[in-house]
Amino acid sequence: MHTFRTLKYPLSVFWETTPLCNHNCIHCFNYWRSDEEKAADLKASSSAVSLREIRQKIEELHPVTVIVTGGEPLMVWEELRPEMERLVHAGIRVTMNTNAAMMTEEIADFLAKEKIALLVSFPCAEETVNDRITDTPGSYRRIQKGLTILRTAGVSFSANVVVSKKNLSYVKETAQCLVEDYGIQRLSLSRVGKPVNAGASFDDWVLGETEVRQLIMETVETHEQYHVDVDASAPYPVCALESDAEFELLGGRRLCSAGKTSLVIGSDGSIKACPRDSFVYGNLFSETFAVIWERMGEWRTDELYPLECRECTSFSSCRGACRADALADTGTCKGMDTAARPERLPLSFRKKKMTFPQYEKEARFSFRQDAHILEEREGYRISHWGQHVFVTEKAMRFLKEHPVFAKAELIGVVEEKETDAVLYRLLSNGMIHAVDDR
Ligand code: SF4
Ligand code: SF4
Repeated sequence: MHTFRTLKYPLSVFWETTPLCNHNCIHCFNYWRSDEEKAADLKASSSAVSLREIRQKIEELHPVTVIVTGGEPLMVWEELRPEMERLVHAGIRVTMNTNAAMMTEEIADFLAKEKIALLVSFPCAEETVNDRITDTPGSYRRIQKGLTILRTAGVSFSANVVVSKKNLSYVKETAQCLVEDYGIQRLSLSRVGKPVNAGASFDDWVLGETEVRQLIMETVETHEQYHVDVDASAPYPVCALESDAEFELLGGRRLCSAGKTSLVIGSDGSIKACPRDSFVYGNLFSETFAVIWERMGEWRTDELYPLECRECTSFSSCRGACRADALADTGTCKGMDTAARPERLPLSFRKKKMTFPQYEKEARFSFRQDAHILEEREGYRISHWGQHVFVTEKAMRFLKEHPVFAKAELIGVVEEKETDAVLYRLLSNGMIHAVDDR
């Protein structure tokens, strides 16, 4: 039986700021909504609770990171901007998912100043294919303009290419365009996921087994050719991977965090576990977070996984990949991810074993005084600017009482054989700094 730790507070919150969008991408949930549903959205978006009220609710959840999404967040920019600013000034790392087509110099300057990183949806480097995917003539030119503005303003951004049958043959030139024309250092090449409300006609867009294989291989090739970080926005089942290189790049890279460490808050305060699912667990304006979070407990046990995954020896590096993918394909979250090939198990490749530096016993470290400390169900969470570390109550007390300490003093607070790993974790997440005594 696999169970996940139940946290008191989520680490990440996806904030769906509006259901409205300037594009009409076929792989998006919104595309498949009826006209009545869209009209209801329009009405709700003008009478719903304000973004300010939602932002206040979000702050009460003490997230480390808030991912601002939509629809298209730039559709509600004037109201959204001060709320994003407040989140940043509350010490929360804020990122935004956007198609960048409505980007302006003024917005870009704000994003650069507040260090808000973007994930830009970029369908295809071929203009006609791009505009067909977005169902919006002229969208390619506007996205191009948006990316140029972002680059000029020095905004940190990566790109997500949702890959379906329509743009699979353009993956290489799309990656080349993003790297060479826009200086992208981080890229997601994501297999298209069927929206949970999509009709049968969407099956013409979904990648088959051979095409998923092609995409995985081209993902690795892009990484090797351009020396940029390449992954996929939704996880691949590790049983879909076929080589050390594929496993090294994609295996266990994006474990599903839905209902475990992340949640989604809608523009009316409703709470979902997964951005692709439509199931609502409650509303923060009518219930407490604790009650809703408890209700989402099924995401933290075996309940949502098929038997093959529950018994799989690779479960910890896979977690059954994407439950929303299974839901869209089989009608239940408990189905297999469509890319899973459990007959290939057990895996014959392994990730390189992680090694930690060995620190001298006299080496000294200082604890970051501006870190945010939060009491969790078990121990404490220390966070700073999008990074976090969980520590035991004993370790927390030690760090508070020893703003500067030597490694030797930490032995006993944590087991001696664990000391280097603990120090490495604290150092690499920026919670402590090495003190240079020379
Ligand atoms: S059987 Fe399930 S848990 Fe195991 S690798 Fe495949 S998808 Fe992942
Ligand atoms: S179920 Fe899939 S889409 Fe949803 S959060 Fe998990 S990995 Fe992401």
